[in-house]
Amino acid sequence: MSILASNSDSVRAASEAQSAQDDPPQAWKQQSWQQQMKSAIRDLATLGERLRIEVDIEATSGATAQFPVFVPLALLDRMEPENPSDPLLLQVLPVAGEDQSPEHFSVDPLEESAATLKPGLLQKYQGRVLMIATGACAVHCRYCFRRHFPYQESPTSMAQWQPAIDEIAADDSIEEVILSGGDPLTIVDAKLSDLVDALGEISHLKRLRIHTRLPIMIPARVTDGLIELLAQSRLQLIMVIHANHAKELDGSVADALERLATAGVMLLNQSVLLRGINDNSQALIKLSQRLLELRVLPYYLHQLDQVVGTSHFEVSPERGIELIKQMRAALPGYAVPRFVKELPGEPNKTVWA
Ligand code: SF4
Repeated sequence: MSILASNSDSVRAASEAQSAQDDPPQAWKQQSWQQQMKSAIRDLATLGERLRIEVDIEATSGATAQFPVFVPLALLDRMEPENPSDPLLLQVLPVAGEDQSPEHFSVDPLEESAATLKPGLLQKYQGRVLMIATGACAVHCRYCFRRHFPYQESPTSMAQWQPAIDEIAADDSIEEVILSGGDPLTIVDAKLSDLVDALGEISHLKRLRIHTRLPIMIPARVTDGLIELLAQSRLQLIMVIHANHAKELDGSVADALERLATAGVMLLNQSVLLRGINDNSQALIKLSQRLLELRVLPYYLHQLDQVVGTSHFEVSPERGIELIKQMRAALPGYAVPRFVKELPGEPNKTVWA
């Protein structure tokens, strides 16, 4: 889940990132979303220092070598200093032993390699295909189900996307394309616009769905340019954001989501049930209430996918079902997400509650 770059690009990006991190603590608020990508924290020592918490760099070296720390300052700003149990911190904090998962955890538990039609194009369900548009993200979530995905094999330019676009154009049973990754909103507007336009030209496509954490991690990503490029598409637009805790949804996120909703983008949220973060009914109820305030419908609560490195986040399905019952007792039906598990080869997600 790293940003692919040549050696000289890496050296330049590292030096830009270093100088961006050296700026005064709140300077990121004046930065563009791309500068905020560059100024993100990329090592555990700095994360510990900024939050004034103890971190064990040696015990987590295996985990961070395999999946580096990446925390934008806009997210760091919402974390509570000196609180090692902060629910936003726990989502990004590597832990000792993360690289030693139980045997039934695998690198590809959803068997996505078997669902690949073309490089970067997956079909799991009828009528919909998923494009891995990029391997880059605005945050590295330790529980990510694609933390071992072979992004180096995925296309990253219009020329490289063309075989996938041709495959979609040749199959008129496909009505919806899901842009995923990585995070498709890490793609710069000009390139994203070319991709959205090319998909819009396929006459049997009706909907474009974008799976993204960027409006939450770096709300400045929701620029006028992005709104404009989305608004000009003839495709119906659905954006599935990803928030796990109400603390993620501060005022800057509210503004970004308001702009998207006003532009006519349908907003849904998916969460993952995570031990120590949102595995209690109060946290989940508050999350749903806050999403509704922001005109976002709670869509899915996912049971954790059993990916190597993530077992410390696992909550039992029975507990998840119980939590959904408690949510139903407290909220209107439309505010209760479906508790689901993705099982490879099934024609749809399995709904547990
Ligand atoms: S933003 Fe999504 S794809 Fe990226 S690390 Fe987080 S969960 Fe994984």
